[in-house]
Amino acid sequence: MAELTHITPIEYLKGVGPQKADVLKKELQIFTIGDLLHYYPFRYNDRTQFHKIRELNTDMYAAQVLGRLIGLQEVGEKRAKRLVGQFKDETGSIELVWFQSITFLQKSLQVGQVYVLYGKPSEFNGHLSFTHPEMEAYQPHAKQIGNQTLQPIYSSTEKLKKFNLESKGIQKLVQQALEIVLRTITEEVPTYILQKHALVSLPQAILAIHFPQNQQELSQAIKRLKFDELFYIQLKLLRNKQLNTQKFRGQVFNAIGEKFNTFYNERLPFPLTNAQKRVIKEIRLDTKTGAQMNRLVQGDVGSGKTVVALMAMLFAVDNGCQACLMAPTEILAQQHYTGLQELLGADICNLKILTGSTSAKQRRIIHEELENGTLDILIGTHALIEDKVKFKNLGLVVIDEQHRFGVEQRAKLWRKNTIPPHMLVMTATPIPRTLAMTMYGDLDISVIDELPAGRKPIKTVHFFESSRLRMFGLMREEIAKGRQVYIVFPLIKESEKLDLLYLEAGLENLQVEFPLPDYRISIVHGKMPAKDKDFEMQRFVKGETQIMVATTVIEVGVNVPNASVMIIENSERFGLSQLHQLRGRVGRGAEQSYCVLMSSNKLSKEGRLRLETMVRTNDGFEISEVDLQLRGPGDISGTQQSGILDLKLANLATDQALLAEARETVIAIFKEDPELSSPENALLKRQLQRKNTGIAWDKIS
Ligand code: ADP
Ligand code: MG
Repeated sequence: MAELTHITPIEYLKGVGPQKADVLKKELQIFTIGDLLHYYPFRYNDRTQFHKIRELNTDMYAAQVLGRLIGLQEVGEKRAKRLVGQFKDETGSIELVWFQSITFLQKSLQVGQVYVLYGKPSEFNGHLSFTHPEMEAYQPHAKQIGNQTLQPIYSSTEKLKKFNLESKGIQKLVQQALEIVLRTITEEVPTYILQKHALVSLPQAILAIHFPQNQQELSQAIKRLKFDELFYIQLKLLRNKQLNTQKFRGQVFNAIGEKFNTFYNERLPFPLTNAQKRVIKEIRLDTKTGAQMNRLVQGDVGSGKTVVALMAMLFAVDNGCQACLMAPTEILAQQHYTGLQELLGADICNLKILTGSTSAKQRRIIHEELENGTLDILIGTHALIEDKVKFKNLGLVVIDEQHRFGVEQRAKLWRKNTIPPHMLVMTATPIPRTLAMTMYGDLDISVIDELPAGRKPIKTVHFFESSRLRMFGLMREEIAKGRQVYIVFPLIKESEKLDLLYLEAGLENLQVEFPLPDYRISIVHGKMPAKDKDFEMQRFVKGETQIMVATTVIEVGVNVPNASVMIIENSERFGLSQLHQLRGRVGRGAEQSYCVLMSSNKLSKEGRLRLETMVRTNDGFEISEVDLQLRGPGDISGTQQSGILDLKLANLATDQALLAEARETVIAIFKEDPELSSPENALLKRQLQRKNTGIAWDKIS
């Protein structure tokens, strides 16, 4: 028989018949012996440490205690019958309870004897106790007390348990697998890298993650396996980036021309922030190289991304190209169009807008001007993607709020030119650095991490339901000053009906509690036809209504500078990034703005932390870090196709340092040996061809 290795099907293990193999495949996606070895324990019973009774608390997963059994009696009758023991060490005593095997335990346990006890401390009737602890008689002459190991615990499922594959069963299979194939496991990372980062070998790591001798061995194993996960994602990402640059010739924007200069010297109404200047410079350098640019600009709401995009588009125009800017909604496209026209003036460029509601006549003009090259900059919605829209020479595509568009939509724009246009995508959802490096690691990333000077930071307060009148007071003052107010209700996922109920109850409450004679309300919710939504939004934008009552459907990026108050009802139901996005709707004018977070009087620990974070800071990047810590990457939008979710051990919230280490290592490798042609990198080259980390590589280009 051929030698068994990690790619040998799981059926080859003793005791794994067709049925067990089947359930392992279906429940855990374990097909091969290797898959099994990469099915790691989710925790360990730590039998290496002992705790004193005084140190026990209910947060402990389990604890091991050395002490004496000083009492044991049966209490209760029939179904309430149980065995209760008293257990004591020099720091205190604690109760033990068993509901089953009472007769057996009465025979085998001896009052007066010293035991090693293991179990989970829990609270019962106000004091700590152990239910069904494991008890092992202490042997004073044995070399060690108890079995001093870390016992692996694997997660299992109901189906697996039917086939004796509870944690213990899985452990036995792993043990067998290790005995058979451990010596055939070969290294996946070159030795020089392992040495440089003081990482243990792969076989060592795999053995130790399942059966660690001690905590130190376990941490070394975890570090090594996490490094592998992060390292290979980065290797793929950076390789991909390198290939893109080699593959796609880009337009060369050599000149800083007249239009850019006229705008910069004569029209720009404010000094650029240093962050804006830096990003413009990055774009400028990118578009000179002759390779196609794929750049992501991250910047908090209000950081001034639009003017950066405009200046990039002027580069394109000055170099004989056309540019377009695509926004996810008609309102946003319209706002960009009006805003850019205002900034630019009428004479620098020919700027037009194309959306679903552009008239047939205007459309014809646009098509014609695009094809004969007289239209310089086109702003629009998805309408830009249509096949009928043909450019003479499209040099730059800007996509606002990129997460709202699919890969395919972006790719279509990209194909609108024989030489692919440079791509600049902008996002107002700050994400932590670790996520960005992994989700967009194959793009160049620019960060605008500075707000224009002179902005008044939004004041955020948190009111409990009991202080609702204070919230009404603030509303009344601001409306009296001529300002406008948003009131946002949460979207209840489980029930759209409930959504509407909340909103309606809120409205009714408002009309009773808030009798101002001449204010008007706009209402927007998810159940409305798009046309009505637009109409209501427009009334608010034009200032015809003073209050906008809405579920979260109010548009990202909508700009109503006169709105100065954002009230978020049931704010404890919102995620942090959503709260931050909503707050960004105000603070756009010269006036002081406010965000009021209303919540019920009872808050979960996490809910409280979210609201406290909002009150403490306006910094979107800081907020996104807290969000990542609280929720993990899986719940943060956009992570689904990024490969992050395939990480088994590495955690982007807590492994920032290791990720940076992995990425820097890969950057250094490519710098030294771009084609991975040196013998010491041969392993990496092979792995790259083989490994599939499940990442969507076609992201932007
Ligand atoms: P966002 O990054 O959210 O898209 P915008 O580009 O809409 O932000 O900019 C928000 C507002 O700030 C706009 O009114 C814009 O004109 C203004 N702005 C942009 N940059 C500056 C600056 N450097 N100084 C002052 N105001 C600026
Ligand atoms: Mg914007």
